[in-house]
Amino acid sequence: MVRYMEASWPRATRPMPPHLSHGDGRQIDLAVFYVSRDGRPLGRPPTASGYGAFEPPRAGDPRVCTGHGGHHAAPDPPPSRRWTLDDSRTATLLRTLARDARVRRIFIEPHLKARLGFARNGKVRFAGCGAARHDDHLHVDFR
Ligand SMILES: [Zn+2]
Repeated sequence: MVRYMEASWPRATRPMPPHLSHGDGRQIDLAVFYVSRDGRPLGRPPTASGYGAFEPPRAGDPRVCTGHGGHHAAPDPPPSRRWTLDDSRTATLLRTLARDARVRRIFIEPHLKARLGFARNGKVRFAGCGAARHDDHLHVDFR
């Protein structure tokens, strides 16, 4: 099951704060998938809103917004957390979206773009350090 968080509002105006976009019906935030530490797929993100369960860069992964502040200053979850990203299910969702001609672009953090195998896919992009962290959700932008 794919879960979604914020998408748009009925009056169809951009942006829809606190988002830098959204509001016109062409963007939606989709939850990434998670597994428990013993590898059990979780049916939903481990936070009430679906946002905030960040999958931090691993040692050696790029960390591009260090010292930038803003959304990227949100602390990583502790290493002792009971969940982690489900790479396989998240990559499958990303692949499905990237192949869909109606999808214009998908935002994800650089370390996950590389880790999930999309390093050379121009449709899968980094939103920049001024945007929200996209290591807890995928932002999907439709044409
Ligand atoms: Zn979004």
